[in-house]
Amino acid sequence: MANKLKKKSLCKWDKDDVKTSWNELYDLVGKSKFICERCLRSASAKGMLCKPEKLAKPA
Ligand SMILES: [Zn+2]
Repeated sequence: MANKLKKKSLCKWDKDDVKTSWNELYDLVGKSKFICERCLRSASAKGMLCKPEKLAKPA
């Protein structure tokens, strides 16, 4: 289960993935440093998003 999701970008997770992998989701999203410009999801790892952009505090 976990192995399957490691290859999958967070952008492609569906509701069932979220339900079964809440711990991983928390790790990825809880310390977000990047945001996906296309899907508006956020993650701590750049590789987890399809169009990552650094999540910076607005000036
Ligand atoms: Zn995306």
